[in-house]
Amino acid sequence: MQKRVSKTLDNQGLTIEQIQNQLVSKKYSAEELFKDTLDTIKEKEHKIGAFITLSEEEIVKKAQGLDRKLQKGTSLGNLEGALYSIKDNIMMKNQRCTCASNMLKNFIAPYDGECTLGLNEAGAVSLGKTNMDEFAMGSSTEHSAFKVTRNPRDYKRVAGGSSGGSAAAVAAGFGHFSLGSDTGGSVRQPAAFCGVLGMKPTYGLVSRLGLVSFAPSMDQIGILANNSRDIARVLEEIQGPDFSKDYTLVRKKPVSYDQELQAFTKDRESRKEKPLKGITIGIPKEFFEISMEKEVEKALDSAMEAFKSQGAKLISLSIPHFGYGLSAYHVLSMVEAVSNLARFDGVGYGNRASNCENIEDVIEKSRGQGFGEEVKRRLILGNYILSKEKQSLVRAKKVQKLLQEDFQQGFQQADFLFTPTTHTTAFKLGKKSKSPLDMQRLDELTVPVSLTGLPAISVPCQEPGNLPVGGQLIGNYFDETVLLKGALGLEQVLSPNQQKGNR
Ligand code: GLN
Repeated sequence: MQKRVSKTLDNQGLTIEQIQNQLVSKKYSAEELFKDTLDTIKEKEHKIGAFITLSEEEIVKKAQGLDRKLQKGTSLGNLEGALYSIKDNIMMKNQRCTCASNMLKNFIAPYDGECTLGLNEAGAVSLGKTNMDEFAMGSSTEHSAFKVTRNPRDYKRVAGGSSGGSAAAVAAGFGHFSLGSDTGGSVRQPAAFCGVLGMKPTYGLVSRLGLVSFAPSMDQIGILANNSRDIARVLEEIQGPDFSKDYTLVRKKPVSYDQELQAFTKDRESRKEKPLKGITIGIPKEFFEISMEKEVEKALDSAMEAFKSQGAKLISLSIPHFGYGLSAYHVLSMVEAVSNLARFDGVGYGNRASNCENIEDVIEKSRGQGFGEEVKRRLILGNYILSKEKQSLVRAKKVQKLLQEDFQQGFQQADFLFTPTTHTTAFKLGKKSKSPLDMQRLDELTVPVSLTGLPAISVPCQEPGNLPVGGQLIGNYFDETVLLKGALGLEQVLSPNQQKGNR
């Protein structure tokens, strides 16, 4: 094992705000902080494979700039001192954006994703682009054209997917947060497998400009981080409000999520009330009726006890159409993928095959060589549905509507719902990659949220010493704040070390 080159800064488990405080009080400099992360990457990345592109060159320069700012005593932006990574299907100007596909392996992004502009403005510094399942299709990050990402908690296991590189990066200490994309669970599921938090915001809260589409009626950029306070801070910076470039954004006033979270905590403390007093959590029984690993079941039970100990009231409720979610999701997402991936034909975009005889030949060979097996499988099935099975599309749209109604019923009784994020813990590499159906089952608990556009967050719930397990909190539209309150409440009981520095 390689030795760490730099000293360890003893800042594990701290929030971005606490790290900023340590920078201000000169416990260490920004240069030391950033170099420490680069050392961690040097030490572990070859075993994990979280990145497709690492952009180290600028980082030290940026740290020196921040140190000068600290010297002068200038006040810090919301995310200054924070390092992040970003899934390789979100564009950063003049950098490669591959979607982990041979189709785009040499594609250089012509502009920045809207979300990255917000992060840069707030002072966050990018470490690079993370590995993923090709075009965000998959649940294990084994379907990347370039490499497999391994789970930092156990290198023999998958990191989950499709944002597996992002989840692994956060879990391994490669920066403070990461952005991923979630169409059917791709932020929440890898977060659960790697033991970090992963939030999919309400559809229409974060601009999708610069995100390469898979199924745009459900695609949403999400955040992976180590604690709820950091998620709140990052969400503040990437929410809206650029309506001119993404017409699916919903017009609403920006929310100060972190301030709201802090105000809520202070208010409860000053009144000596339990953090979640007055909050009702719905437990949808269908999500617990599927067969689950014992480890997941136990972790979820402890999480429910933790909620109760924090003053929340738990009630049982029903999402009757839960069972139809998985098939509806796959029908809709495959059909949308057909039209969205049509642009990669070697003419407009993407890999161009050589030695072709005519235009049909160019398209056929470029797509045949450029796309991997999983993408082709979905495109073939999507085309089949569109030509022979249109009724399934109509039925999937109906399921979407029925699920929306089910959840709205639920939110009349509860502030948010609580379910497992996945029915298993991270499995061994290769275990499911030969069975697309087994792989799809991993999305069963996350897709109902994607079909309805609701916000959800996966929070680590595992017992100490066990493999990570995620609990999923599902909120009503644009009520990200209640999810963050719930996540914080849970963290305080289940990850007390994470909270250490909060005092
Ligand atoms: N695992 C799901 C799929 O393969 C979800 C993917 C995603 O959210 N991007 O479709």
